[in-house]
Order: sequence, then C-alpha cells, then structure tokens
Amino acid sequence: MTVLGLDIHVDVGRVLLYDNELLDELRRVYGHSLHVLLTALTAPPRRYYFRVNVLRREPGVVLDEMRAEGYRVYMDEHWGEALWLPVVGPQRIQLHDCMIVVDKRAAESVMMGANLYAPGVVKVENCVAPGREVNIVSENGVVVAEAVAAEGFQEALRRGRGLIARTVRPLYSVPSLRETRWHREGVIYEQSVSSMTVGRVLGAEPGSVVVDMCAAPGGKTGHIYELMGGRGRVIAVDHSRSKTRRLREEMERLGHRGVEIILADARRLPEILGEGVVDYVVLDPPCSSIGVIPKIYDKKSIEDIEKLARYQRSFLRAAARLLKPGGVLVYSTCTVTVSENEANIEYAVKRLGFTVEDAWPRRWSRGLGGYGAAAQRVHPHVHGSTGYFVARLRRR
Ligand code: SAM
Repeated sequence: MTVLGLDIHVDVGRVLLYDNELLDELRRVYGHSLHVLLTALTAPPRRYYFRVNVLRREPGVVLDEMRAEGYRVYMDEHWGEALWLPVVGPQRIQLHDCMIVVDKRAAESVMMGANLYAPGVVKVENCVAPGREVNIVSENGVVVAEAVAAEGFQEALRRGRGLIARTVRPLYSVPSLRETRWHREGVIYEQSVSSMTVGRVLGAEPGSVVVDMCAAPGGKTGHIYELMGGRGRVIAVDHSRSKTRRLREEMERLGHRGVEIILADARRLPEILGEGVVDYVVLDPPCSSIGVIPKIYDKKSIEDIEKLARYQRSFLRAAARLLKPGGVLVYSTCTVTVSENEANIEYAVKRLGFTVEDAWPRRWSRGLGGYGAAAQRVHPHVHGSTGYFVARLRRR
C-alpha cells in the first residue's frame, strides 16, 4: 500500500498515469527535473491562500481578528489582499486493519482534513462499525487519513448522503475557513495565489468593461471587481447552468451586486455583446489542470492535451473579436504543458494579431520560447503553489 507524503514513500507512477508522449511534452519544460515536478504534484502547497474582499474590510483588520481568535495567519509578502495559513503535514498515518475506500475527489478533501460524506464512498469493508477506527483509502491505494466511523453511517450510506466518518488524523491539515464568520460575512474568498496573479496582471482600470469568459466559480471575477473598487462593468460568463448558479451565490455572498452574469457559450459572445466593445478580457478556459495540487490520482494522454488546446484556441478567436483595438487579454491556465500555454500564445500572436506584454512583478519564473520575458509560469516544485501559466496580450 502506498502512503503519500514527502518523508514516507511517493509512488508517483501509481498516482500520475500520463502517457509517454505527454511525459515528453512535459520534459520540454522540465528536462531532468521532471520527476521533481511530478513528485511535487502529489503534495499540497505549503501555504493555503485566501484573499480579503477589500470592498468589505481592510486585510490588516481581518488578520488581527483572526489572530485574536487563535489562527496562525500571515500576510503575503507582495499582495496586500492575500493572506495564508500554513499547511501542516505530511503526518504519519497509523494503519488500521479496517478501511473505507473513497473516490478521487473525496480522497483529496479528506487528505486535507475534511470529514467523509456518503457521496464519495466507493466501498465500506464489513469490519467497519460505528465508533471503530478506520483508514480512509483512495481507489489507487493511497491512505489519506485515520478516521472514526460515524454513529449513523449505515443509514447515511443507504440514503446516499450524510456523515460516514470523522477524520481524526489526515495526511495534511489546514483550518477550515468555510465555517468561519469571515466566510459567512463575505469577507474572504479561498483562492490560490497563482490564480490571484490573473487579476493583478490584468490591472483593469476602474470604469472599464471587463469580460471574464470562463468565469465559474468566480474566483477571478470577484478579485477583479474588488481591484476595480466595484466601479466598472464586469461581465462573468459560463456555459454551465449549475455553475452560474453557484457563481451568482458567491457574488451575492461577497456583495458584488454589480457583476453581470451571462449563461452562454463564451465563443458566441461577439454575437451577444458585439465586436470591438470590451476593454479587458480574462480567458481562463478548461485545461488539463496538471498544475492543480495535491493529486491523488490523474490519468491523461497527449490526445487529451491536444483536444483541450484546440478548444482553448476557439476561445482566443472569440476574445480577439470582442476586444477593442488596444484592448487587453489575460490568458491563464492551471496547467504546465506547452501546447496549452506558450503554443496558444504563439497562435494568438501569429494568427490573431496580439502582442505580448511584460506586466509581471519580478516574482516567478519566466515563460518559455519567444515570450519568455512576458508570459509567466508558476512551478509547484519551485514556488510551492498551483502550477499556472499567465500571459498578458494586447490587441493591435
Ligand atoms: N475562472 C474561474 C475561476 O477562477 O474561478 C475558473 C474557470 S474553469 C478553469 C473553466 C470554466 O469554463 C468552467 O467553469 C466551465 O464550465 C467553463 N466553460 C467551459 N466551456 C465553456 C464555454 N464554451 N463557454 C463558457 N464557459 C465554458
């Protein structure tokens, strides 16, 4: 059985099932360090980031309030609205002779300290009884926590909802912010620092028109609205009905009433909003998410990447039509392949008439290829955060 954790044993080959062509693609970026990157993908970031909704409260005030209630919380060195909590772990997990097997999603949240609920359960061994100590194990054999089976777990299983086990010792842990008053009051939003770079690099002027083409759940939309001081027209678009519902709820929680939400295929936006009418576009399209950490299990092939890259380019074409001449596009992904990142920027420059701008705080590694000075990568093994790519482009 594999136990995930740095000082324990990371069987990367069992966690990340990438075909050889995809590994070759990643080698173009990481060379001999590829194994270091892949290993880093199996562990969470050292810092758990969230940001303060500056339209509601001063970040320093939230920092003081949280510290007064016993949180170990810190302010980011660069961006005033960004706060973080240390992630504790990896902790040694004691092996019990009874286990509950869970799907990838449940495993990834239990690994960070969440309790186990019925929807994530794949198999409960016969030995499990209320109050008994068990291990929570992912389908590919990673032990993510020690837990205690809940009193009514059989009933919860039958109904397909409810508590199955209370996590007592996860591999990693970070205090849950969801149940805090700051979350309830719409004062904070959980977001990786990599994702926060998008709003910062966009630098939208208050009063301008901004379209977030693939917006749900709304992390970047809300951040941009806050950085603009709530002044301007911010339009958030997503094609998923359920995700736009959640996006609306999040904007309401944060008090961002000025954000307009459109349920649509973003590639049709030029027909809906018009051509050459937007000052800023944010394009954060679906991607292979290889940079998202921690990974319990991931299986991908080069065909998956190529298909996604083609899809991403279809949004780039729509973005070019939406923008005013001189308008700004920020393109981002939470992945680390060349096809979905630098190659798409090359497409935008050569085929769609964009130029690339260097808008970066000198903080992270440069991108690759001819746009090295401008596009930027966040490397999980170097920066300890979600693997990301962000580029700022201007329409001629
Ligand atoms: N920008 C978001 C944030 O920071 O919270 C995350 C966006 S996520 C990477 C990609 C989103 O694109 C998903 O919510 C998905 O529903 C949406 N999407 C996929 N295809 C789309 C399409 N054709 N039109 C609009 N949205 C689409």
